[in-house]
Amino acid sequence: MVDKFSAEKRSEIMSKIKGKNTKIEINVRKYLFSKGFRYRKNDKRYPGTPDLVLPKYKTAVFINGCFWHGHENCKLYRLPKSNVEFWQKKIERNQNNYLRNKSKLEEMGFKVIVVWECELRKSFDNAMNEVVYAIKSDKI
Ligand SMILES: [Zn+2]
Repeated sequence: MVDKFSAEKRSEIMSKIKGKNTKIEINVRKYLFSKGFRYRKNDKRYPGTPDLVLPKYKTAVFINGCFWHGHENCKLYRLPKSNVEFWQKKIERNQNNYLRNKSKLEEMGFKVIVVWECELRKSFDNAMNEVVYAIKSDKI
């Protein structure tokens, strides 16, 4: 299969997928709110602008799209057949940014939780149970 889109067009399509307030992010927020958690969303004052920050629990939550964050061994992470190098670099940059921001947050005493898109798609309730457990846990 040849990628029928130009790099530019593909980038545009992908940036829409990446956009904030995706359905999955909204569902995660709704769920946590319904469980009594209060949070800040996309607060730029925190490294990497986490999807959610729960100040009371000193916890940052990232809802990672499997494509954008190159989720290893995940069927949602498939590189387009053309411009492979372009996408690889982009995804590598995302991964490195994430790791750098994670360390910064941890230095600030925050716990960092990642929820993967595929886990939420597979079983939203299970994935969210684990998130709630991790938020309440004292361990980093
Ligand atoms: Zn995944």
